[in-house]
Amino acid sequence: MINKLIAKMLPFFPERIIWIFSKRYISGKLLSDALAESRKLNQNGVVVTVDLLGEYIKNLSEADRYKEQYIELIKRFTEEKVDGNFSVKPSMFGLLIDKEICYLNLRDIVEVADRCNSFIKIDMEDSECTSNEIEIFRRLKTEFPSRVGLVVQAYMRRTLDDVKSLLDLHNTETPLNFRLCKGIYIEEERIAYKGYQEIRDHYVEDLRFMLMNKIYVGIATHDKYLLDKAYEIIDELNVSKDKYEFQMLFGVAPKLRQSIINRGHRLRVYVPYGKQWFGYSTRRLKENPNMVWDIIKAMFVSR
Ligand SMILES: Cc1cc2nc3c(=O)[nH]c(=O)nc-3n(C[C@H](O)[C@H](O)[C@H](O)COP(=O)(O)OP(=O)(O)OC[C@H]3O[C@@H](n4cnc5c(N)ncnc54)[C@H](O)[C@@H]3O)c2cc1C
Repeated sequence: MINKLIAKMLPFFPERIIWIFSKRYISGKLLSDALAESRKLNQNGVVVTVDLLGEYIKNLSEADRYKEQYIELIKRFTEEKVDGNFSVKPSMFGLLIDKEICYLNLRDIVEVADRCNSFIKIDMEDSECTSNEIEIFRRLKTEFPSRVGLVVQAYMRRTLDDVKSLLDLHNTETPLNFRLCKGIYIEEERIAYKGYQEIRDHYVEDLRFMLMNKIYVGIATHDKYLLDKAYEIIDELNVSKDKYEFQMLFGVAPKLRQSIINRGHRLRVYVPYGKQWFGYSTRRLKENPNMVWDIIKAMFVSR
């Protein structure tokens, strides 16, 4: 309870305190930091998806700057032969200001990814963005069938219907490619399931549907219960190893990560970097209020 209260007050904490805690979950502030951490992960048999931090821009000129940075990122990682792909947040490219401009910005990025033989995953943001993010995904997937994927959130009541509505884009050569996560934004009960087990049950239902329909899925979770359910479904349906992967966040549950690798599954780590780390970090802190005590401790040791 007290942790939750403190978590709500996080935006009022000094940034330097939050950074002490956050740096564990962020590869660094620079592209070179993301590159160094991605190389280390590759050396340990882990592939990456790299995310330049930033979201919910207020001015479209910010979108232009972010687009240039993503293009530089994709080219650099391709030149350096890093085994990985890229994740983007549409609100960083103006989704909530002008969705057509957002689409055009993302299209430019996917075009570069296409030339670099790479792949872009569209992160899913809060419910205000969902329909537009699905629509942009639909347009990009139609034009670049093997270059783009979408995140879906098991806590959203609409998710299974959304997945079914995209099946017309699915085929054996260029299957739909989803990342399935629980969902991190705070949503109203009429929009999202709220119960912990209820969200897990819907996650399992969505995952089973995807694997039964041969949709490529990134199983993004650190929840041991869900990992065990995923292993069961993979065995039961005899899904081959190239039809799915597991995904985890940078800095979270390294032991669990190793156990997935030891079982011989493909594992991708989400590697965020950039100067706009505050929103990403505070969202994760609010979700895991127990970590608030790490911040309190940091306040004392950093004085
Ligand atoms: C690769 C990846 C990409 C994602 N992309 C999106 C996205 O596009 N949109 C979106 O809404 N959400 C996204 N998420 C976040 C996701 O929705 C969940 O909020 C998050 O993964 C926590 O859910 P969980 O399944 O790990 O289960 P939980 O029950 O939340 O966590 C299980 C256990 O994992 C550990 N854990 C989980 N998170 C953390 C953390 N931050 N720090 C330390 N320990 C932790 C804890 O020990 C916890 O007990 C993504 C997650 C991953 C792994």
